[in-house]
Amino acid sequence: MSKLSNQIIDAIREVAGKNYLPLHEPKFDELEKENLINCIDTTYVSTIGKYVNDFEKNIAEFTGAKYAIAVVNGTSALHLALKLIGVDIDHEVICPSLTFVGTVNAISYLGAKPHFVDCDEKTLGIDPLALINWLEKISIKKGDKTFNKKTGRIISAIVPMHTYGHPAKIDQILEISREYNLKLVEDAAESLGSFYKEKHTGTFGEIGILSFNGNKIITTGGGGALLTNDESLAKSAKHISSTAKVPHDWRYIHNEIGFNYRLPNINAALGCAQLKKIDKFLDAKRKLFLKYKDVFESINGIKLFNEPENAVSNYWLQTIILENGFENELEDILKNTNKKNIMTRPAWNLIHKLDMYLDAPKSPLPVSESLSKRIINIPSNVFLK
Ligand SMILES: *Cc1c(COP(=O)(O)O)cnc(C)c1O
Repeated sequence: MSKLSNQIIDAIREVAGKNYLPLHEPKFDELEKENLINCIDTTYVSTIGKYVNDFEKNIAEFTGAKYAIAVVNGTSALHLALKLIGVDIDHEVICPSLTFVGTVNAISYLGAKPHFVDCDEKTLGIDPLALINWLEKISIKKGDKTFNKKTGRIISAIVPMHTYGHPAKIDQILEISREYNLKLVEDAAESLGSFYKEKHTGTFGEIGILSFNGNKIITTGGGGALLTNDESLAKSAKHISSTAKVPHDWRYIHNEIGFNYRLPNINAALGCAQLKKIDKFLDAKRKLFLKYKDVFESINGIKLFNEPENAVSNYWLQTIILENGFENELEDILKNTNKKNIMTRPAWNLIHKLDMYLDAPKSPLPVSESLSKRIINIPSNVFLK
């Protein structure tokens, strides 16, 4: 075991104690149990019920979005969002390569192609400077549309992602998207509770999405939501996520090809309880960050990732970044921490390197490549020790 691995293990143990340390696990108490029992007693466990409506109202209130539409997971939320803003077959959609595969798969579900751009070392999200330089080089505007000069395809949208809960420079990305007629869908799956210049992530573009998967900051088991300020998008989202059924007292009328993506009431019951505790979770995540910061400060070769400028992060997953020149320590650290019951994980394999996306268009990705060799997520439970 390398000296650095040893130092990291000691530091994590000092903060988080001796037990097995997962990366992140959900935290429940009596409130979740009460809601679940109530929900079962009503018999409304499926796609209609009071908890779904309450959950949507509470999510909208918390994020400041005018509307929230609850769906079965974050990936389906992305799929619907991209469809609703008009992404279609053979369009290109700008996205990061340093992301969870769901971001990119949702683009593919519509027959569109991902077009990868580079990330910013300071935010881990799309770098606005790299973005505008790339668009200037490869795109051409005709009327109110932007085309990829090389492939001839329309570039119709951009999907920035707020990595591990840290906001990207979303105001600049928004400005560029307007300049190039790109619709903006924010993948805020990891950033519930994160704000950029005091505005909640996921509320900047046409639509934002959240995930409530079991590993996220709050969970509904499986679940997701679309956020929007646009009433007609909100109405359409609700309509096509619930099989496009036209309300009628007894007839089954569906007026377009809809999706069965509505969040079940029983999942929303869990979500209502979880959302009541989000401020407590956020506070605990921040305190954990400060404790880690303390013990990692003196270790040479790593830094603990700090919320970016102008941002308040939810600190969903605590992240160590190996300093340049220390990349060769990555495997040793991952191997030895996991061997010692400290769950750590590297960044996702970059999406442009996965088999199905090898021939996707992309800008040079030096920062994403470098970060992917230097990121380590460490135990981030809110109630460690
Ligand atoms: C979790 C996640 C999703 C997808 O959410 P699911 O609810 O698991 O479908 C999408 N994008 C990112 C960045 C995520 O972390």
